[in-house]
Amino acid sequence: MISSIQKNSIGIEASKFDAFFLHQGKEGLEAFREQIDLVTEKLEKVFREADGPYTGQPPMELKQSLEEKLKIWNNPRPLNDVLEEWEPTILKNSLQVSHTKSIAHLHCPPILPGIAAELIIAALNQSMDSWDQSPAATYVEAELIRQLSRLVGLPASSDGVFTSGGTQSNYMGLLLARDAFCAKQWNHDVQAYGLPGEMKRTKVLCSEEAHFSVKKSISQLGLGEEAVIPIPSDENHRMNLQHVKETFTQLEQDGALPFAVVATCGTTDYGSIDPMEDLAELCQERNLWLHIDAAYGGGLVFSHQYKRKIAGLHQADSITLDFHKLGFQPISCGLFLLKDRQHYRLLSHHADYLNPEEDEEEGILNLVNKSVQTTRRFDALKMLLTLNTVGTDLLGKMVDQTMELAEYAASVLEEKSAFAVENRKPELTTVVFQYRPLRSENVSDWNRKIQQILFQEGKAAIAKTSVNGETYLKFTILNPRTSKEDIDKVIQEIEKAGTEMLNGGYQK
Ligand SMILES: *Cc1c(COP(=O)(O)O)cnc(C)c1O
Repeated sequence: MISSIQKNSIGIEASKFDAFFLHQGKEGLEAFREQIDLVTEKLEKVFREADGPYTGQPPMELKQSLEEKLKIWNNPRPLNDVLEEWEPTILKNSLQVSHTKSIAHLHCPPILPGIAAELIIAALNQSMDSWDQSPAATYVEAELIRQLSRLVGLPASSDGVFTSGGTQSNYMGLLLARDAFCAKQWNHDVQAYGLPGEMKRTKVLCSEEAHFSVKKSISQLGLGEEAVIPIPSDENHRMNLQHVKETFTQLEQDGALPFAVVATCGTTDYGSIDPMEDLAELCQERNLWLHIDAAYGGGLVFSHQYKRKIAGLHQADSITLDFHKLGFQPISCGLFLLKDRQHYRLLSHHADYLNPEEDEEEGILNLVNKSVQTTRRFDALKMLLTLNTVGTDLLGKMVDQTMELAEYAASVLEEKSAFAVENRKPELTTVVFQYRPLRSENVSDWNRKIQQILFQEGKAAIAKTSVNGETYLKFTILNPRTSKEDIDKVIQEIEKAGTEMLNGGYQK
């Protein structure tokens, strides 16, 4: 007979759940090891057998086959059976982002310590909002941020937080810029009273090539997308300073109130870097907030040969960095940095259950006030494990390798008469180009088709983008294992698809 104390109200012994959770007991630990081993074995098989970035399964077929197989089950099933089902469907039809010919988006191969750290992050499942949910993790994140901000060159007054990515970091920078401006300009507390009427006159300047999350944030912040003034870029796709100055003069005449400039350190298409030092000077003169979106270019903090390109980054009031781009981390690993931690007061809220004011008085650190999230992952650990096992020296060499490879790709394409390269001297690791053979009608269509053919035949994952309304192709090189031979091969595949298309081969 089971005593009523051992039973819960629905009559099941609590120990029945032992094999489903991690705990001191043998059952949990054995099940843990067994599941991780099975998953590792299955992933090894998937990686061993992948011979291209993608199987080529067309989207509608994929959708249908997954819909047919996807079920919600009532009863427990062995993990191995489920993994068997998943192998040909979910696992094999995933983008092989670690494949050396997967060079489409700002989407990097995850570095192994990052993956290993993910297991620790999930198993420990710390929540970064309050100290009592993440005792060591809280101070690890705070200290890593302190050291990373020194690496960027920020002063001791700086602070920051790990975020879900560039979109959230840009949002945070603009949120603080808006509220700091209202406090300074009108002694107005946005947190308490919402936006003041005069807010209608406020403006934010950024490059016309800035990431769309700038406009999106400004609209979410209640200012409307029209408050964003896109500044035309120069022939190197950098924000044109003369235009910035003229825009300030014009805005003054119109009685508008610019409060922030967003500089991009590494645009998504060209990797171009806005003139950060000049913009910092202009912002200083006019008392404007400078946010630098270094989601992509920020990866150069580890570079040996190219770090000089990001001189000026440290002059920002707030910075966006994404280690899930040129930092080789699994998604997500974003970082938001703030030059003057005093501004964090604009975000702060006290919840009695989470971060009561008494905690602060006792010197206990609750990170919830540094983020727009509450429950938050211990993503800092991935970066820390990478820095502790790989080290900054080798990490920098990996970054440099991708930079050199982009230069190589641009120079090879440049020499071929069938290609026109838009950025001959890549600023970061993207190359934008167009396949342009002798017969030159429908060039946009051809380029679109070539990108599709390469993807669907599993030859290479490359991107497409638009230049002056025409479709161009794009390499985004984020894999230090990608070789010159890989690049040569991808270019050959483009030429081959192009030639076959011209000869009427591809009619699908
Ligand atoms: C990728 C990117 C973003 C958005 O970052 P997420 O991590 O995707 O949210 C913002 N700005 C730039 C310049 C980017 O390249």
